Amino acid sequence: MSGVRTRFAPSPTGFLHVGGLRTALYNYLLAKKEKGTFILRIEDTDQSRKVEGAMENLVDTLEWAGLHFDEGPGREGNFGPYIQSQRINLYQKCAHQLVEEGKAYYCFCTLDRLEKLREQRIAAKLPGSYDRNCRDLSKVDVQEKMKRGEPHVIRMKVPLAGELTFSDAIREKVTIAYAVLDDQVILKSDGYPTYHLAVVVDDHFMKISHVIRGEEWLPSTPKHIILYNYFGWELPQFAHLPLLLNPDKSKLSKRQGDVAVEDYREKGYLKEALVNFVAFLGWNPGDERELFFLEDLVKEFTLDRVGKSGAVFNIEKLDWLNFEHLRKKPEPDVLCMLKDHLKRSAVGDKHFDDPYLLNVIRAMRERVTFVKDFVEKSPYFFQSPKEYDPVDVKKRWKPESSKYLKTLGEEFAALATPTKEEYESALHHTAQTLKIKNGDLIHPLRLAVSGMGTGPGLYDILFILGKDETIRRIISAIEILY
Ligand code: GLU
Repeated sequence: MSGVRTRFAPSPTGFLHVGGLRTALYNYLLAKKEKGTFILRIEDTDQSRKVEGAMENLVDTLEWAGLHFDEGPGREGNFGPYIQSQRINLYQKCAHQLVEEGKAYYCFCTLDRLEKLREQRIAAKLPGSYDRNCRDLSKVDVQEKMKRGEPHVIRMKVPLAGELTFSDAIREKVTIAYAVLDDQVILKSDGYPTYHLAVVVDDHFMKISHVIRGEEWLPSTPKHIILYNYFGWELPQFAHLPLLLNPDKSKLSKRQGDVAVEDYREKGYLKEALVNFVAFLGWNPGDERELFFLEDLVKEFTLDRVGKSGAVFNIEKLDWLNFEHLRKKPEPDVLCMLKDHLKRSAVGDKHFDDPYLLNVIRAMRERVTFVKDFVEKSPYFFQSPKEYDPVDVKKRWKPESSKYLKTLGEEFAALATPTKEEYESALHHTAQTLKIKNGDLIHPLRLAVSGMGTGPGLYDILFILGKDETIRRIISAIEILY
C-alpha cells in the first residue's frame, strides 16, 4: 500500500449531489491508481444541519456506484473514528494549543455586535466581517470574562500583512493577500469546531496526502494553510475541481434539473453510465475515447488531466452513455434487470419466462437507452395492443387489409411451429396468391401485432410472440379495424 491517502468528506445534510459523486470518484480513482487508501469521513460538526439517515444514504449511494471506501464509518482503520462529532476532544485540544502559543485567541463578541459590525463593514466596503476586537485582550481581561461565564469562541490569528502563495494540482499557483481573510472562528461557543479547524486536524491525523475537493473550497484553503503552518504540519497536495455548469453555463442547480445521484438512480441510469459521465466532468483521457468502466478509469486517471474551466452537465451525453453501457451489459444481467423492472411495474398480467424475455432483449437491444424502454418502446411484447397508432392506421391500413390478413392468418395457422423464415415465406406465398405486393401484408400485419408502425424486424416479432398469439392479434385487429 502506497502513502497516497485520499478522502471524501461530505456533510450529512441530505442526498449525495452529482458534484459530490465526482469528488468522491476522483479521490477514489487517485487512491486506487496509486495503490493507496480511499477514506470516507463524515463532517457533521454543524449539528444544526444534520439530517437523520443522511450518512446511511451517502454510504449506500457510494457503494451502489462501486466506490468502496477502505476506511470510514463501520470500516475502521488505524485513524478513526471517521465521524467528526466523535472527535471533538481532539479539535478542542488543538484549538487550545494554538491559544497557548499565541496563534489563536478567545473572542467574546456577542452575536448582536458581530451582526451590526458585519453590516457596517459591508456598507463601508471593508474586507472581512470582523474587526479583531478581541485579538489583543489582556490575559487578565480574558480571565475575568471567563470567570463571569461569558460565552466565547476561539478565533485563529490571520497575519495582518503580506500574502500567501500555495500550489494546487489543477490551478498551479494561487496567491491571496492576508488582508482579505477574517480571523476565522475555529472553535464555536458550543465547543464544536468549525469546518476549517476540523478539516485540517483530520487531514493531518488521518495522514491525507491529497485533498481533492470542489472549487467552492478554494477560498478556504489559505485559512487551512495558515493552520497547517501554525501547527507545524506538512501540507497535503491540494486539488480544487472545476465547477459543474448547466448547458447555459450557469452553476448547476436543482432548479434546472436533478442534482441528486439517487434521482438518476431512480430514473434507471446505470451506475456504469453515471460514473463514466461524472468522470468526464472535468477530466478527459487526452484522446477521443469516451466509454470507460471504473477499472479503466482507475488505470488512466491523473490529476494533471483535470481542467480548470467549468464542466458542463450535458444530459444527452449521459443518455448516450447509458445506451452504450446497457448495450455492453451481459445478457444475464440485462435479464435480471428487466425481470426486476417487470416485477416493480406490474406490466401485463402474464408471467414471461426467461427464454421469452431473452428474445425480447435480443430484438430490442439496439433500440433501448433504459431497461424500462424494453416495455415502453415495445409494449406489445408484454400485452396485446390495446389501441393502434391512428397515424399508422391511416397510412397503412387499407380497406382490403382485413381480407388480406385473414388469408395470411389462415396460411400461418397451417404451419406447425414456424421459424422466422417460415413466417416470411408464408407471407410471400400469400402475397403471390392474392396477387398483391409483400408490403400490402407487411404493414398491416405489423400494425395488427404491435399496434405501431416501427420496431424491430417483423418476423422477429412474430417469432417471439409465437404462432397462436400472432393469429389472435390478427383476428382482433380485423375485428377492431375491420
Ligand atoms: N465537508 C465539506 C463538504 O461538505 C468537505 C470539504 C472538503 O473536502 O474539505 O463538502
